[in-house]
Amino acid sequence: MNIPTLLLAATLALVGNDVSEIASSSQPGAQVQKDTVPIKVIATVPTYARLAEVIGGDQVDVVLLTRPTQDVHSVRATPSLMARVRNSNLCLHTGLDAELWLDGLLRGSANLDLLPGNPNSIAMSDGIALKEVPGIVDRSQGDLHAFGNIHIWADPYNVRIMAGHVRDALIRQRPSEAEAITERHAAFHKQLTQALIKWLTEYQSLKSQPVVVYHRSWIYFLDRFGLIQDGTLEPKPRVAPTASHLAKLEKKMNEQGVHVILREPFQHPEAADHVADATGASVLLLSTHPGYPEGVNGIIEHFDYNLRKIANTLTADDG
Ligand SMILES: [Zn+2]
Repeated sequence: MNIPTLLLAATLALVGNDVSEIASSSQPGAQVQKDTVPIKVIATVPTYARLAEVIGGDQVDVVLLTRPTQDVHSVRATPSLMARVRNSNLCLHTGLDAELWLDGLLRGSANLDLLPGNPNSIAMSDGIALKEVPGIVDRSQGDLHAFGNIHIWADPYNVRIMAGHVRDALIRQRPSEAEAITERHAAFHKQLTQALIKWLTEYQSLKSQPVVVYHRSWIYFLDRFGLIQDGTLEPKPRVAPTASHLAKLEKKMNEQGVHVILREPFQHPEAADHVADATGASVLLLSTHPGYPEGVNGIIEHFDYNLRKIANTLTADDG
């Protein structure tokens, strides 16, 4: 076993202990009758919604606030969205400056006890080592990512940490279902860990391969699998590509032989296609979250899809 595999195995053992502690801290018999009303869970992005569904089972009713093809940075807190989230019990969000629209949405829907800082407001970034943390919080460096990169869901290892947050929050909501929630979490955690070990072994050829990204959405994914982020189409997070920035990027890509540009469904194709034409690189439209493309609905399937797509392109280039 290599070092990442050993680390994962050790972490799996530790998390196993956490599970048994939480399960035994609930009070058996305190709630004899099974709760029948589902826990209403708000999830800001599809990955959090899938976690709630997989771990909560029939105990949850999940309201997803963004589509898999939508940018989490640009959501409007409309009256219809406010109506959908009214009377919710739990909010799964990233935290930091990922969902600047969430505060207005919760206030507008009178869900004040789900505002960040409350026990039922779960910041999924808790416990995750943030990347690209600026030395100084300064919005002139770009209009977002002021506290670090918020695209934490891109790394399956981070998703394992988030799954623990979801398990704990659901058990607090419904202690009578602690055993079933713990079991579903453990099953998912095991599946994801096995998949991660498989990916780390199977996709070693991706190591040290340079890629260019549109927005800085992929750093957690790239670092996990050893790929190198060699440039961004946006000069700063959420600042549209400019001709002079793209010209410099194209020159660098040609010099360094970068063959892949990663784009997400909500990003304009023109700039990526322009750079592809100038460099001969391939634009890969990736899955930001489960649910895109159609049929790729599970968390593991979504990671599988992206890894396979990148590996196939890079292998074809080698040939
Ligand atoms: Zn971002």
